[in-house]
Parts: sequence; C-alpha cells; structure tokens
Amino acid sequence: MQYESIHTAEQPILAMISMTEGKLDLLTRVTGVDADSILAGASILRSGGLVAFPTETVYGLGADATNPLAVAKLYAAKGRPSFNPLISHVIDQSAAEKLGNFCDDARKLALAFWPGPLTLVVPKSYNCDVCELALSGLETIAIRVPSHPVARVLLEAVNRPVVAPSANRSGKVSPTISEHVSHDLFGRIDLILDGGRAEIGLESTIVYCGENEVQILRPGGISSSLLSSVIGKSVKNGTDVGQSNDKLTAPGMLSSHYAPNAFVRLNADTVEVGESLLSFGEDEAKNAERAHKYLNLSPSSNLVEAAANLFQYLRILDTEGVRMIAVAPIPNIGIGEAINDRLRRAASPR
Ligand code: AMP
Ligand code: MG
Repeated sequence: MQYESIHTAEQPILAMISMTEGKLDLLTRVTGVDADSILAGASILRSGGLVAFPTETVYGLGADATNPLAVAKLYAAKGRPSFNPLISHVIDQSAAEKLGNFCDDARKLALAFWPGPLTLVVPKSYNCDVCELALSGLETIAIRVPSHPVARVLLEAVNRPVVAPSANRSGKVSPTISEHVSHDLFGRIDLILDGGRAEIGLESTIVYCGENEVQILRPGGISSSLLSSVIGKSVKNGTDVGQSNDKLTAPGMLSSHYAPNAFVRLNADTVEVGESLLSFGEDEAKNAERAHKYLNLSPSSNLVEAAANLFQYLRILDTEGVRMIAVAPIPNIGIGEAINDRLRRAASPR
C-alpha cells in the first residue's frame, strides 16, 4: 500500500475549522501493522497529524506532545469539552527523565513496571518540551512507557513524546479493538493502525510521586499493595481521599488547575483602562490600542489555533506581570467549549 497520499504537513486551515464544528472531513486510513504503515504513522505524527494505535491498555489517539496545534486537533477530534492534561508516552526511562524529575521512589516504580500499564506523575523538568496545552498548564507531567510492540516501534520511529488518550469520542467507552476507534473517529483522524485487540482493556494505573508522598490518582491493574512492596512504604489511594482541594486528584476534576495571577474578565467586548486583552478573531483597532498588552488567540477565528495558543498566552501575560485580562467572547462550539471551560476555571474566584 502507498501512503504518500496520506495527509501530512500543513493541514489545510479550512479542514481544521470544519473539524472544529464537528463535520467529518479528514481522510482516515485504516491499515494493518507493517514497517510501511508504522513509518507512515510516525511521519503523520511528526507533521502534526493524528494516529490511533494499540497499546497494552486500550487504543490510544496519538499526537506529537511537543506540538500545541496537533494537541488542539486531538482535543477537537475527541470532542472533549474540557482540556484534561494528557499522558506523554515515551520509549524508555531515559526519554522519560528528559521530561520529568524522578525521585528515588519514582525510579523504583519505573524500574519495576516499565514498560507497562503504569503512568507516573512527577514534577516536569526544566527542559521539558511537552507543550503547555498537553500539560494543561500544570507543573507536573504524567509519563508512561508502554509495552505494546506496535506502540513501541511507533514511538521509536517518532522519536518525540506522544500524547495518547483513549481513541474514543469524549464520553464514550475506551476502545479495545480498531473497529471501536473507526466507529468513533472515522473522518476525524488521519490513520488507524489495526494491531488487534488491546489486551488489558483498562486504562493505566496513575501514580503521583512527590518528594514526600506516593499516591494513586487513578486505580488500575497495579494495586497499592504491589506499589508499596516495590518502594517499601505505604502508598495512599488518592481516590479514597475525596475531592477536597488539599488532596491530590486527577486534575480534570479540579475547579482551577491553571489560574493566572491576573484577574480574568470573560466575554469582554471592550477593554477597560489598565486591562490587557486576550482577543479572538478580527478586532476593532481601538481595542488593541487601548489594551495594556494585546495578544490574539486566533486572528482568523480558528478555534483549533486558539486552543493551541491558550495556555501559552495566559503564561506570557503572567510573566509580563499583567494585572487584569479581558478575554474576548469565544464561540461555544466544538473545541470552543473546552476553551470556555478552561477560561471559566481561570476566571473563577480563588
Ligand atoms: P487519559 O489520557 O484519558 O487516560 O486520561 C489521562 C488522565 O491522566 C486524566 O485523568 C488526567 O487528569 C491524568 N493526568 C494527566 N496529567 C496529570 C498530572 N500532571 N497530574 C495528575 N494527573 C494527570
Ligand atoms: Mg479516556
């Protein structure tokens, strides 16, 4: 089979916009696994496309973790109404250590369970090149080294961290065979690598490793007693500790997991004195002139581009010491829902 015709590099901007609005207009290829299809998958990922592939847990929907536009397209394809931080998949421990800072306990767990269905959440490293959108603005990063041979050869060929949430539409159950992926995502992604049934069928166990504690954030096949026996101390089950904000939890649940220091005002049609403007779409020149600092999430009103820029632009405004940010209205369609979800959290009282 020839793969040259598979979409690569510059995704036409119109395709991105209509995908945002929920139309199915990408040419999805479904293929078995061989050297050619793996290379095709790797090249699609490296050029910002979306590839579904089997892992030992469930089928993942892969995107280049370092490319915010690719990650925004992934959220749009899944139809996720919020940006949950994503797990970065890498080939081995040494690639993992480029992304995160591993304490002794984290190293012991990695040694015992990688490659395999364990995700470790550790502080992100200074040089971590995973984009802000994939991290959802957090200072920690979730990392996994999968054991499935298809996932491994693909990661090796991509040679970059790959985010890979379950390859289903948001709210649907995780896919364990490629037909499930086709059912949910056909026309929304570039390639489905059919490597047979995902053996485990349940998502990975997620464990947070901080200086003073090790805690399960999402239960999975690896039990707390097994984890405890490896590190020689008790492992809390984070899912038992409830939702209070001083306890850890998978952050999709928190009301605010990236809040800028500045006060945020949403749906702003005009700019007040002293405010900076985070804009969207074409602007009246006077707004840009009045704003203390001015950034536009997408001058061409492309919601996927806006999603890709969101966390980075909030951070830029923060590092510039901005006190008040007015945010232009963002259409609440497609990935715009996720953008508005994050903006509401950024603006919520704290
Ligand atoms: P999925 O990719 O669908 O398996 O979901 C990823 C899970 O990992 C979500 O529940 C996230 O909240 C969780 N996660 C990702 N990054 C982090 C992080 N830095 N800290 C804690 N949980 C995380
Ligand atoms: Mg999922």
